[in-house]
Amino acid sequence: MSQVDLHIHTTASDGRLNPPDVVRLAASRGLRVIAITDHDSVAGIAPALDAARNFPRLRVIPGLEMSTNVPKAEIHILGYFVDHHHPELLAILERLRTSREKRAQKMIQKLGGMGIHIKWDRVRELAGDGSVGRPHIARAMLELGCISSFSEAFAQYIGRNGPAYVEQEKLTPGEAIRLITKAGGVAVLAHPANIGRLEEFLTRFKEEGLAGMEVYYDGYPPEVVKQLLMLSHKYELLPCGGSDYHGFGKDNETPLGEAEVPLECAEQLIAMAGAQRWELTQIQ
Ligand code: AMP
Ligand code: ZN
Ligand code: FE
Ligand code: FE
Repeated sequence: MSQVDLHIHTTASDGRLNPPDVVRLAASRGLRVIAITDHDSVAGIAPALDAARNFPRLRVIPGLEMSTNVPKAEIHILGYFVDHHHPELLAILERLRTSREKRAQKMIQKLGGMGIHIKWDRVRELAGDGSVGRPHIARAMLELGCISSFSEAFAQYIGRNGPAYVEQEKLTPGEAIRLITKAGGVAVLAHPANIGRLEEFLTRFKEEGLAGMEVYYDGYPPEVVKQLLMLSHKYELLPCGGSDYHGFGKDNETPLGEAEVPLECAEQLIAMAGAQRWELTQIQ
């Protein structure tokens, strides 16, 4: 059990627990620092910060996880300490939210063509106030009974190469890194172990303002963690990490707070955000 978890989803995107429940769970597990990192959304931040007032021993970092595109692959960029009222950030997130809805409707249409008739209204309902994602479609499919497990939806239909997959409108990693930085945040590369030609990307992203990368992530085995830690040193990126908690108890889900992230990582992240904010105020 770690004291830190810097990668957590809530009902503001595709997590099961609402932000106050995530905060309560983290506090009950004795965590010291957590970050709320919903997909393309900052809507969970205010309620999480509110709830955190009842738990002075727990620090909640406002964050988000942006989906970005490079040719033939998807890269996720985490943003910590973003100003969740930043007008440009909010305008772009609003656009992404709408395009996520259109994309989900297209996937539903494709599924319909394959004889699987799930309803958009139900998917929207499952997503609640949050940004719609493929997990909501998978849950609607499960309810319908056309698949027997959550992962089957991805394996057979809506996974990246699946017949019902539709590409989402996304920023490039550089655009996300710059946007996060502009909104006062620290940009961190999410789950990098599966990225091909990683070092080329690291060189480029670093020039674009990337400040850290996940090293202690979900189920990464010790040899992967070791390799990523080496790369984080080589490219002078802050090592970060977390469970990528969604709360749905998928087969091998890492429980909240169990990604073994050193407390020192959170401390360095907090210090870096403070220093960056100071620099930003000097420039403006
Ligand atoms: P989206 O943001 O709509 O592209 O959906 C991405 C989310 O779907 C990820 O954050 C995961 O929560 C989930 N996901 C993606 N691939 C899989 C998979 N193979 N099995 C289960 N969940 C997945
Ligand atoms: Zn997710
Ligand atoms: Fe991700
Ligand atoms: Fe995530």
